[in-house]
Amino acid sequence: MQMLPASLDAAAGLLVATLLEYVHHRWGGHARALGERVRTSHQLHHGDPLEGGVGYGEKLRQRAPLIAGASAVLLAGAAAIFGPRHAAVVILGVLAGYAYIEGYHHRMHHRPPTTAFGRWMRRHHHLHHFVDSRANYGFSSPLWDVVFRTRRDGRGLPSGRVERAAG
Ligand SMILES: [Zn+2]
Ligand SMILES: [Zn+2]
Repeated sequence: MQMLPASLDAAAGLLVATLLEYVHHRWGGHARALGERVRTSHQLHHGDPLEGGVGYGEKLRQRAPLIAGASAVLLAGAAAIFGPRHAAVVILGVLAGYAYIEGYHHRMHHRPPTTAFGRWMRRHHHLHHFVDSRANYGFSSPLWDVVFRTRRDGRGLPSGRVERAAG
């Protein structure tokens, strides 16, 4: 099989990160597919989106053991399929994507958005938080919500409902 260049490996890793974000949130945070601890942790985020004011660096530090374990499993699986060199670049793409997504989600709750996409994305996420927790699982894009048909746009809600709920 013709192998992909490193830039495509990294791009594939970023795409995989967005899928993992969706799967982790939907079936880990809102079901028990990844155990009670993951679900409880996410439900605490719903109860307090600022998570007691914890910083982004501290959040990553707390999750480091989980991230390392998941990366090792993913790396072993990807290496068996694509070989170690391609797998390493894909996993680096996944980790970069994960760090970006976590940072994006963190900032979304801590700072007002500065771009039109940021405002749109925050509304997408606030619909999940404050209106319907069975919709809009994507933190950084609506891609997988569209694919899995869980995207909700808030049409039909009383005007200003999401903004008022978000405070
Ligand atoms: Zn959130
Ligand atoms: Zn959630």
